[in-house]
Amino acid sequence: MRNNTRYNMQPKSSHHINGAYVEDIDGAAIENHYAATGEIIATVHSATPAIIDQAITAAHNAQAEWAARPGIERGRILLRAAELLRQRNDEIARIETHDTGKALQETLYVDAVSAADNFEYFGHIAATMVGENIPLGESFALTRLEAVGVCAAIGAWNYPVQVASWKAAPALACGNAMVFKPSEMTPLSALILAEILSEAGLPDGLFNVIQGKGDVGAALTAHPLVDKVSLTGSVPTGSKVMAGAAESLKLVTLELGGKSPLIIFDDADVENAVSGALLGNFYSTGQVCSNGTRVFVQSGIRETFTRRLIERTAAIKLGDPMDEDTQMGPMISASQRDIALSYIEKGKSEGANLLFGGNAVKMQGLENGHFIEPTIFDGVTDTMTIAREEIFGPVLSILEFNNEEEVISRANDTDFGLSAGVFTRDIARAHRVVEKMQAGTCWINNYNITPVGVPFGGVKRSGMGRENAKAAIEHYSQIKSIYVEMGDVDAPY
Ligand code: NDP
Repeated sequence: MRNNTRYNMQPKSSHHINGAYVEDIDGAAIENHYAATGEIIATVHSATPAIIDQAITAAHNAQAEWAARPGIERGRILLRAAELLRQRNDEIARIETHDTGKALQETLYVDAVSAADNFEYFGHIAATMVGENIPLGESFALTRLEAVGVCAAIGAWNYPVQVASWKAAPALACGNAMVFKPSEMTPLSALILAEILSEAGLPDGLFNVIQGKGDVGAALTAHPLVDKVSLTGSVPTGSKVMAGAAESLKLVTLELGGKSPLIIFDDADVENAVSGALLGNFYSTGQVCSNGTRVFVQSGIRETFTRRLIERTAAIKLGDPMDEDTQMGPMISASQRDIALSYIEKGKSEGANLLFGGNAVKMQGLENGHFIEPTIFDGVTDTMTIAREEIFGPVLSILEFNNEEEVISRANDTDFGLSAGVFTRDIARAHRVVEKMQAGTCWINNYNITPVGVPFGGVKRSGMGRENAKAAIEHYSQIKSIYVEMGDVDAPY
């Protein structure tokens, strides 16, 4: 395998199956690039059909014994994994920064931290996942929460270890086994998670990582020994996964894209509203599914809000993501940067007013990095392409509005429904507005906060099912109802 770079992130081998690193160089090579320099930092091999079978068979063979253990035993292992994730936080942050280009300033405090929180939460509640006793007069019924079986999980590239953990922690807590396929662009941190779970005492076969592109994801979705598929990705991939799973009626959870509204009323605290808009558009270089990219600003505050937004955007430090002072790193790849740039061109040609940024940037010493300026448009109308399609880059659109009723209807005029935000000092209005938002997650006077105890997921075309919190249990378990007769059988025959 090649590792011709000073940024060598080469893993021990491509896959982690049945508790051990596994290689099969018959699979096509996938080069992994550092977004800040374009250099190759690792090369992995796509899973061959034999590797896919090996991983799924390992999961299948390990699952029943795991599900039969008391929840408290499963939870204990997940809690140990949380501890190990925290111990290896800095190492994982550096891997995530090299894999995604996201600033170390973010990855040190978010990625493995969120992963650890997830294992801690589900470790704690594993013992509480029990059924009900339903009195029925002289008889009664019981319910049991049972594992689904083998879960295939497919990840996006923006939060690799977080996405893997948000799926693995509840799945394992419920007694399932998992085969995880990271995005081809970010193959590394899921392997570290597999190492950590093994070290924490997770029996072999319960968490397997295999590499590959969409074809490997599709093979997992179609495999007869897979009982459930959980995807984090784009809407088109969500449709394909759902169609693939439909043939064998597998359960499906989909965490997909968005074009979320962030509504700022005249009475909002301006600095907080600007902070929300910056966090909701430029964090992770704009590569966040729940971003509030349609910023609806009421006419009375628009001028002040826009002035402060531009001032604070101009102060964002773009640069080397490994420098802890850097606030915004490059985009993940040249092609994602070019997609964002082409949307910026569309914005301009459709008549939006480019207020800030809009260009690719050549950083000194990082000339091959995929840097782009944080970009702000105003004068954006509801029908413009930049107001309708997910860009998945640092492009913020300001849309002016006059009143509450109008903004609710415009905010909901989208096929997506992942998130929504509202900034106002009028708490009654805030609740009125979020109640009407067609979105899975809403924030009042903040944006993009996703604590593990709060369910996260989308409505409409942004997906189905929920991750995090107790809501996730429902998607990784099945209810068995058991009727218990205490008297005689009353038969008419
Ligand atoms: P993609 O949909 O391109 O890919 C997601 C994953 O699916 C990747 O691992 C990809 O493999 C795999 N895949 C591709 N085709 C298929 C297929 N036919 N069957 C099964 N798996 C397949 O998304 P991105 O990775 O580009 O991520 C960005 C998208 O993810 C955005 O739309 C974003 O909004 C969304 N997202 C949603 C989140 C949420 O929680 N709602 C969170 C984060 C991102 P490969 O990449 O290797 O080809």
